[in-house]
Amino acid sequence: MATQPAGADSVRERCGECGHTTSHRVRVEIRTESQTAENAQFSREPYRVSTCSECGTESVTRMNNA
Ligand SMILES: [Zn+2]
Repeated sequence: MATQPAGADSVRERCGECGHTTSHRVRVEIRTESQTAENAQFSREPYRVSTCSECGTESVTRMNNA
């Protein structure tokens, strides 16, 4: 079912759901971490989102790990 375009943004990574290395589509999203509205505008963080082309599971990794 997964018709995957031979895109340059397709990478091979280990998928926790599949339990082996599969092809993933990777994108970057800016997500706002706003539990409280207090400093919401300062808590926009880039996240790396990789989607397994086998099972569709998304793995989200925060890019600012400092
Ligand atoms: Zn998977």
